[in-house]
Amino acid sequence: MTTLFISDLHLESDRPEIGEQFLDFLETEASDADALYILGDFFEAWVGDDDPDAYYATIKQSLREFVDSGVPVYFMHGNRDFMIGDRFASETGVEILPDPCSVELYGKSVLLSHGDALCTDDVEYQKVRTMTRNPEWQAMILAKPLEERLAMAAHARAQSQARSANLSDEIMDVNADAVKQTIADHDVEILLHGHTHRPGIHGVEVGDRFAKRIVLGDWYEQGSVVRWDEDGVELSEMPR
Ligand code: MN
Repeated sequence: MTTLFISDLHLESDRPEIGEQFLDFLETEASDADALYILGDFFEAWVGDDDPDAYYATIKQSLREFVDSGVPVYFMHGNRDFMIGDRFASETGVEILPDPCSVELYGKSVLLSHGDALCTDDVEYQKVRTMTRNPEWQAMILAKPLEERLAMAAHARAQSQARSANLSDEIMDVNADAVKQTIADHDVEILLHGHTHRPGIHGVEVGDRFAKRIVLGDWYEQGSVVRWDEDGVELSEMPR
């Protein structure tokens, strides 16, 4: 049996091929997994669990059926879908995990994270992150009409795209010291995250030992999955 990890699908109705691949993944490989972990940016945007969007409703229904079939699904917020809340969790049956979250898998200690908190070189973004993860800020936003929230999300997305285009690759990636510190603080053998859209497996020297950092890829051009079982861990692309 295998535990599966995915992140950064950025699901939206404008890119239906990603959702189709995800639904196919649920029906095939994932259907007999031990568990499925979704490590953030599952949706391209999320303005509140009360959004009646028909496309999101389809995805929620599929998650519900998948969970009901007996495979536990764990969800961690990304920087796009951090407004996913308890109503989404109860509608779909997924369990929301804090970021970061330490788990024990097949005898290994693993720290799961979306990954944006590790990008400490982007000081401006970290300020926004602190503000938007504040429950009081979120309650204030959720009190606004849905139309206003959708407009805010569209504006934030355009701003983020314009900003990313002007930032260097180094600033957009994880900070090496933040990675070491996080691994040391949580005393884990492996750090598994997404967010940077730079899939890979890296060795990390932490004090007198070696840890591993595994990075999931995005689903823009193909799927990306980490498969984990008693024999070890594997990062793969899933062509479509
Ligand atoms: Mn992200």
